[in-house]
Amino acid sequence: MLQIDNLHAEIDGKPILKGLTLSVSAGEVHAIMGPNGAGKSTLGYVLGGRPGYEVTDGSVTFDGRDLLGMEPHERAAAGLFLGFQYPVEIPGVSNVQFLRESLNAQRASRDEKPLSGGEFLKLARAEAAKLDINAEMLKRPVNVGFSGGEKKRNEMVQMGIIDPKLAILDETDSGLDIDALRIVGEGINRVMRRPDKAVVLITHYERLLEYVAPDFVHVLVDGRVVRSGDIELARELEREGYGAVSA
Ligand code: ADP
Ligand code: MG
Ligand code: MG
Repeated sequence: MLQIDNLHAEIDGKPILKGLTLSVSAGEVHAIMGPNGAGKSTLGYVLGGRPGYEVTDGSVTFDGRDLLGMEPHERAAAGLFLGFQYPVEIPGVSNVQFLRESLNAQRASRDEKPLSGGEFLKLARAEAAKLDINAEMLKRPVNVGFSGGEKKRNEMVQMGIIDPKLAILDETDSGLDIDALRIVGEGINRVMRRPDKAVVLITHYERLLEYVAPDFVHVLVDGRVVRSGDIELARELEREGYGAVSA
């Protein structure tokens, strides 16, 4: 589904990704761990198509299509979802408006009819309830005044409504208390643990991986995958830190 080969990317002329290779197939969950500054968020932004991130070498295909040649909205329409490490506040745009526009844009790209206001609200309320987000919060401007944990859960409400094919989730677990962690973990499993979908789960901590069991765990250091393994690798990192693998 996602094939990243020898990806090099820079920001303001500073190389960040330095030959990253990763292959993700349908039905798989890949965890990416690594120290601060390794390039994990940069990977998410490059895959999402954020301006300012220049790819200088390598390739990325998504379902066989050249992902890097696509506009961000085309990537989203093709089924890519990026959950942000730091969700953005959008004053003046309600969650409901934002999500309905997003979903209907995606439906239009698949030649499906837009959902009516009523149909959409029903769906949005159901998804929000699963993430313990109340209906009143859906009416508020996107993420404005939300706590850190509410923002992260709100990202998962978006994911549930948009129902993507591939989710790149950047530290969705950070800032969550134990109960929220379980709720978010169950949400990821419910929406994304399917034979036709895949997840790239960027995390510093092994604890989310106890809820969302990864098929593969990769360690990203200085812009490259330096080790790959399974959940045991994540447990080893939790015990011994990144020093042991980054040497
Ligand atoms: P991680 O998510 O693994 O902690 P990031 O991808 O956020 O790492 O950052 C990787 C490196 O890129 C860091 O050294 C960071 O300081 C640098 N970086 C990120 N954004 C910018 C930017 N806009 N300009 C310059 N350097 C940046
Ligand atoms: Mg970080
Ligand atoms: Mg980061």
